[in-house]
Amino acid sequence: MENCLFCKIIAGEIPSTKVYEDENVFAFRDINPQAPVHILVIPRHHISSMAAIDEATDAELAACLRAIRLIAAREGLKEGYRVVSNCGPHACQSVPHLHFHILGGRQMADQMA
Ligand code: 5GP
Ligand code: ZN
Repeated sequence: MENCLFCKIIAGEIPSTKVYEDENVFAFRDINPQAPVHILVIPRHHISSMAAIDEATDAELAACLRAIRLIAAREGLKEGYRVVSNCGPHACQSVPHLHFHILGGRQMADQMA
């Protein structure tokens, strides 16, 4: 997708710190980390948000979840971690390419918002 920041990161047109990739998934460190570990997991295929996952294959969606587990294990997040996907303006989604934040390495607040 032209002019999509995360599609440009996948294509290598914008640099990123890659932590994982496979045929369906790309993952990299967030540029503005909110926790000691803050990684974004994205499908290679441009899907705008959770609201558009009808456009994704089951394999792509499963690959995102399996990548999250694998990355969390590699990062040593034994005490747990939070997975967040902001969808749309009420959730303050700022990049319109589906992404899952992995946040870990510190105690999270017990409130979601
Ligand atoms: P959202 O607010 O859409 O849920 O999350 C977008 C995330 O993308 C934010 O946490 C933001 O810091 C991150 N981000 C925005 N631009 C870049 C970039 O150019 N590189 C990286 N690595 N992360 C980015
Ligand atoms: Zn995209």
